[in-house]
Amino acid sequence: MSDQLQVLNPATEEVVATVQAATAADVDAAVVRATKAQAVWSALAPGERARLLRRFAVAVDEHLEELAQLEVREAGHTVGNARWEAGNVRDLLDYAAGGVERLTGQQIPVPGGLNVTILEPLGVVGVIAPWNFPMPIAAWGTAPALAAGNAVVLKPAETTPLTALRLAELALEAGLPEGLFQVLPGHGPVAGNALVEHPGVAKIVFTGSTAVGKQVLAKGSALLKRVTLELGGKSPNIVFADADLEAAAAAAPMSFLDNSGQDCCARTRILVQRSAHDRFLELLGPAIEAVTVGDPADEKTDMGPLISKVQRDRVRSYVTDDLDGIRGKAPEGPGFWFPPTVLTGVDPHARVAVEEVFGPVAVVIPFEDEADAVRLANATDYGLSGSIWTRDVGRALRVSQAVRAGNLSVNSHSSVRYWTPFGGFKQSGIGRELGPDALTAFTETKNVFISTEGPAQ
Ligand code: NAD
Repeated sequence: MSDQLQVLNPATEEVVATVQAATAADVDAAVVRATKAQAVWSALAPGERARLLRRFAVAVDEHLEELAQLEVREAGHTVGNARWEAGNVRDLLDYAAGGVERLTGQQIPVPGGLNVTILEPLGVVGVIAPWNFPMPIAAWGTAPALAAGNAVVLKPAETTPLTALRLAELALEAGLPEGLFQVLPGHGPVAGNALVEHPGVAKIVFTGSTAVGKQVLAKGSALLKRVTLELGGKSPNIVFADADLEAAAAAAPMSFLDNSGQDCCARTRILVQRSAHDRFLELLGPAIEAVTVGDPADEKTDMGPLISKVQRDRVRSYVTDDLDGIRGKAPEGPGFWFPPTVLTGVDPHARVAVEEVFGPVAVVIPFEDEADAVRLANATDYGLSGSIWTRDVGRALRVSQAVRAGNLSVNSHSSVRYWTPFGGFKQSGIGRELGPDALTAFTETKNVFISTEGPAQ
């Protein structure tokens, strides 16, 4: 394994930067620094911690365009998405800052005294992030962990370390104590694994593939480490015949093409009631062809390249020439391009219909009735997201209750808001991030009983 990480621009294949990969010894040293910084940080008045986090948010806002352009270069994200992502980091920090002074325990009635609970920080938290949304996902773990009084050591993905490194510089400029938020780029099996196995790291927040997530959980459990897992998905987009079909077809493309399909919430299984199937496909065809694939730095682009050659080869392996469907256009030449692809007539048990492709590829599968739709929606090991398109409110509620997934939307594809909880059922993960309880997930509850009985006579 190389001791250097080469960051490529996925749209041009040019080298953007070369970054030193952290070793296990670097992780050890970082945990020592983080432990010292955490003691200083948790001793600060809550209002002071909140003020510093708000200054960090302001620093991110002031550098929003710079961070967005960096994301375009290292991850190939469209510039519009990249600006949203940098703004999301700012908003997460602001939201978490608002929680510092509201992180309250309870007072529970007991005889003979007063009983209170105290929410204490865990200590040092390791955040392991993937390459598909490098900035927001790093911040989902980091912002609430810091707000709850912890230190964070963040390991970004091998291909996308640059925005994370810049965020760590901005944290220092904003006045956060040195060592409180450290970024260690490195290889997963080396630096990532060292964080997971480190006895000085109290919790791991892992976002990535289900396969690696299972290893992280197994290794973390040896130390009874707290582990949060945000893993893969194969989310359904259920379109009933009574839905506004024009709206459903217009919204479907970006529900799986956003970020070139490299989105854990991508609605890649389009389940359409049989009586509306042909009409839906007639509407979907032009909507797919209208998606502009190209230079992510161009404001008019809807979809950029895939992250890497490895990822493009993986996506290609799912789309064989014998499959029918709708194929959009993508640039030729340098860059890791793949066209928007919708496959029809696919066996629901086929690899492409079951596995997470993590590229701009969806399958359309017909269903008969509500029970059949729910059966198909749940016929997956994953349970992250899903959408339900119908004009029948009762049906929307029934299906929302029946689908085993953590984040559902009705007549919409919205999944992620920093102020609502996010996470997966089944093999899509363990635990929840974001939302009103985000800080609590980075605390231990301590129960203290204070006797009010006088001294024995
Ligand atoms: P990945 O599992 O290969 O890598 C994720 C991170 O784990 C990287 O930083 C990597 O270096 C690190 N890693 C790899 N091996 C490790 C090990 N042995 N020990 C510790 N760390 C290790 O995933 P990826 O390909 O970077 O990301 C894509 C996956 O992430 C997809 O499956 C996607 O669905 C998932 N994802 C989930 C969510 C969610 O919130 N549920 C969000 C985004 C992405």
